[in-house]
Amino acid sequence: MDDYALTLNAGSSSLKFCVFRRPVQESWEIAARGQIEGIGTSPRLSAKGTKGEILADNRLDAAVRDGHAAIDALASWLRSQWGGARVLGVGHRVVHGGPRHERPVIVNQKILKELQELIPLAPLHQPYNLAAIEAVFEQLPDVPQVACFDTSFHRGHARVAELIPLPADICKAGLQRYGFHGLSYEFISSLLPEVAPEIAHGRVIVAHLGSGASLCALRDGKSVESTMSFTALDGLCMGTRPGRLDPGVVLYLFQTLGMSAKEVEAILYRRSGLVGISGISNDMRDLLGRSEPEAGLAVDYFVYRVTQEIGALAAVLGGLDGLVFTAGIGENSAEIRSRICEASSWLGVELDSEANKNREPRISTPRSKVSVWVIPTNEELMIARHTGSLLRLTGAKRVPSSAQNRSGNAEVVRS
Ligand code: ADP
Repeated sequence: MDDYALTLNAGSSSLKFCVFRRPVQESWEIAARGQIEGIGTSPRLSAKGTKGEILADNRLDAAVRDGHAAIDALASWLRSQWGGARVLGVGHRVVHGGPRHERPVIVNQKILKELQELIPLAPLHQPYNLAAIEAVFEQLPDVPQVACFDTSFHRGHARVAELIPLPADICKAGLQRYGFHGLSYEFISSLLPEVAPEIAHGRVIVAHLGSGASLCALRDGKSVESTMSFTALDGLCMGTRPGRLDPGVVLYLFQTLGMSAKEVEAILYRRSGLVGISGISNDMRDLLGRSEPEAGLAVDYFVYRVTQEIGALAAVLGGLDGLVFTAGIGENSAEIRSRICEASSWLGVELDSEANKNREPRISTPRSKVSVWVIPTNEELMIARHTGSLLRLTGAKRVPSSAQNRSGNAEVVRS
């Protein structure tokens, strides 16, 4: 019988999953990729198979109201597809690993409890990530689970890059800059030697521009700085989060406007950024299609902040050899890429507009001092690689980079 492994990326209203299969004596390959969306409103399960064929596209019972129920629904769909299959491991995306976890870990109850203590540092993601682990413990108590952290790839930053300049005794409680989107950056870094060998060992900024957005500075493939810090609120303007903010603003909300901690949290995590500025949408595609000046202002601010932080990270790197765009906006919006590149021309960025429109891997002109790339990220594959290597699920081989993207299906896990 074939062996299976799962990766899960659980959010507040969605559960993204990948099913990996290892036929007897062969390598791991992706068997399905899909998601349950609309958890709590109108839940729907969709999944595609190896050749992009639709395996599922169904409405689910409205009782799928939370992460636990979503895991139950996923488990029964998996049983209907691959009943009796042996699941060797489940890998999870967990946003915050705190100061202790420099690499993925096999989760036990003690580690789960420790990770639960980090929920206040990532209220938008951590509770849902951990609820999925608990639900799998209930459904598949004997299957090992691996937590892969968005913070791990950034461990090892210089002391000054990790520092929060508050009184040292306060910082001892774990106040430091962590950085996030690490699974995405680790994946991109792992692809550079194949896709863009000329910059793989150089000074590179990767722009992960999705609903959450950040930049990572890589030197020789290793993270040296990130725009996100103690929480995923810092740095760039995002769909619903403001990014960099004068802490005096937060004091003002408490002291002058008399808001409660819960109200301030909701403003910072859910009501700011693109949706806050525009009053229209948190979705970049929507905003680009609208004519209201507020929509334009939100897009302008997004581009302005990315450009500003590219300059700051280039300063940290002491120059720049490459710029990589990834995630929903970075991979799909030629307009945003073009505006950011235009504003970064002082660094020696020269965009090839045809290549940018066609979303070629390299979108800069041959004479551009900084080469610019679009590389689709694949956090799930990174989770699968970590899960495979930690659980020693051997029998995997390397895949050509062209096969490794969010929508591609011909993926094999390397362990
Ligand atoms: P997450 O995984 O954090 O939910 P994604 O990486 O999927 O986020 O990115 C979602 C963002 O990408 C949304 O703002 C969406 O509007 C944007 N996006 C997707 N496709 C396009 C496009 N063609 N043009 C502009 N923005 C796009």
